[in-house]
Amino acid sequence: MMTRNLCSIAGCTHEAEEAGMCGMHFTAALVHGAFQYTATSRSHS
Ligand SMILES: [Zn+2]
Repeated sequence: MMTRNLCSIAGCTHEAEEAGMCGMHFTAALVHGAFQYTATSRSHS
């Protein structure tokens, strides 16, 4: 297979490992509890 999957996060050129994202962004998505980045950020602390 010559297909090279790149991280779906805009601006990221790392190779995708999980769920279409590189390891770094996949981990970040898990931490944030969502696989999408929304403009809505709730400050609940
Ligand atoms: Zn990435």
